[in-house]
Amino acid sequence: MPKYDYDLITIGAGSGGVRASRLSASYGAKVALIEESRYGGTCVMRGCVPKKLLVYGAHFAQHFEDALGFGWLVDGARHNWSALIAAKNKELDRLEKVYQQMLLDVGVDLINGRGVIVSPHTVEVNDKRLTAKKILVAVGGWPVIPDVPGREHIITSNEALDLSERPQSILIVGGGFIAVEFAGIFNALGSEVHEVIRADQILRGFDDDVRNFLAKEMEKKGISIHRNRIVRSIKKTNGRYSVLFDHGDQLVVDCVMYATGRSPNTDGLGLKELGVALTNKNAVAVDCDNRTNIESIFAVGDVTDRVNLTPVAINEGRAFAESFFNKNPTVLDYDNIPSAVFSQPPVSVVGITEFEARKKYDVEIFMSHFRPMKHTLSGRAEYIMMKIIVDKKTDVVLGVHMVGEDAPEIVQGLAVALNCGVTKAQFNSTIGIHPTAAEEFVTMRDPLPDSSSDRENI
Ligand code: NDP
Repeated sequence: MPKYDYDLITIGAGSGGVRASRLSASYGAKVALIEESRYGGTCVMRGCVPKKLLVYGAHFAQHFEDALGFGWLVDGARHNWSALIAAKNKELDRLEKVYQQMLLDVGVDLINGRGVIVSPHTVEVNDKRLTAKKILVAVGGWPVIPDVPGREHIITSNEALDLSERPQSILIVGGGFIAVEFAGIFNALGSEVHEVIRADQILRGFDDDVRNFLAKEMEKKGISIHRNRIVRSIKKTNGRYSVLFDHGDQLVVDCVMYATGRSPNTDGLGLKELGVALTNKNAVAVDCDNRTNIESIFAVGDVTDRVNLTPVAINEGRAFAESFFNKNPTVLDYDNIPSAVFSQPPVSVVGITEFEARKKYDVEIFMSHFRPMKHTLSGRAEYIMMKIIVDKKTDVVLGVHMVGEDAPEIVQGLAVALNCGVTKAQFNSTIGIHPTAAEEFVTMRDPLPDSSSDRENI
């Protein structure tokens, strides 16, 4: 008789939990995966995937306008929001089935219900107790909304992805990934968009040139960014929402969305009762092997609040499975993780910001901003910004930043180079592909003079 029912019980079928379970099972482990909602988790059901489908949908507005400059006459194009949401939902249903099938194919037992850890080796689900040698917590996070009078009127990105109608006007609170992405979607589809931030610029943590450049491009598209503002209250009047700010000014809109961060889903899982150590942000504290302070309990993904990105969760899940079910100890390297914001235009970065670089290195900054070839005919006044940060002493590239069409597609390739320790001389000796925007990355020759006022002009 085996000592435990399973080798591994995973709680949470999001990106990290699915990868860890699937891989562990493929290495011969007996695995159960418990999920109380839908397979795929935040990324597939409420995040990256549906958001990107909406971003694609929103892009057509600009494509139709740009087409005119190339001889096309696109008469009477209209958007049907419900059709987009229905198509998106159909795709999510398909993806969920694919996820389930992949897990079933390697023999993972799928259990629908809420798992609660009741001992270091026991999980209770649907009034049954199951035991496992290892338990993996991969339950992700959930949007947080600050306490504000009228809180009940607020939607988050969860609801924004499923609105029955597109609001004519929307106020989005927050200046992070989600806020700028949704501001771009609603603006492109024709809504009046107000983004309200408590700081003086969007995207805290990103390179200042990226933040300033993107904000300018967003404002050019008609998004109003209200800086240094805090919402005091939200009141419903005649089917609309009146939002009062700390400065005494107010706005009336059809919808109020908050994108003010996410918090790990650690409540009600039995973690505190068992003495699993949590961080001051209520995340599960783990070591580099994804292990908690309890030998048999592990955690991966957003619930650990390390780098909250899907590919990071997937790779944490992979490292866990490799280490404990394939005798291949694997520790994830958190340096040079590339990321993208699917704003309009999009942002993509790998490596560090100029601000971080200047704290440690003597740096050279290479920067370019230009109008992409496509817009010479479309007439659109949209620019691209690229920036390379170099350690003057070693010539090693410390950071690459881009705002503009296709930025995520371009920066993904450059991330490989940064991971290999690429130097600026190697950028310079690389032949460009002409005519592309990307070739600008290998043709920037002159660093900005230290006292450059160039960046003020971009
Ligand atoms: P972020 O942490 O990116 O941004 C939160 C924003 O809300 C910040 O602008 C912050 O302001 C503001 N904020 C926080 N609290 C308050 C408050 N009480 N009142 C007013 N404003 C407040 O969170 P998101 O919700 O945008 O995204 C959550 C996470 O999801 C991200 O960290 C990211 O890891 C992930 N994600 C990744 C995506 C991608 O890879 N493309 C897309 C979407 C999400 P301030 O800057 O002043 O602190």
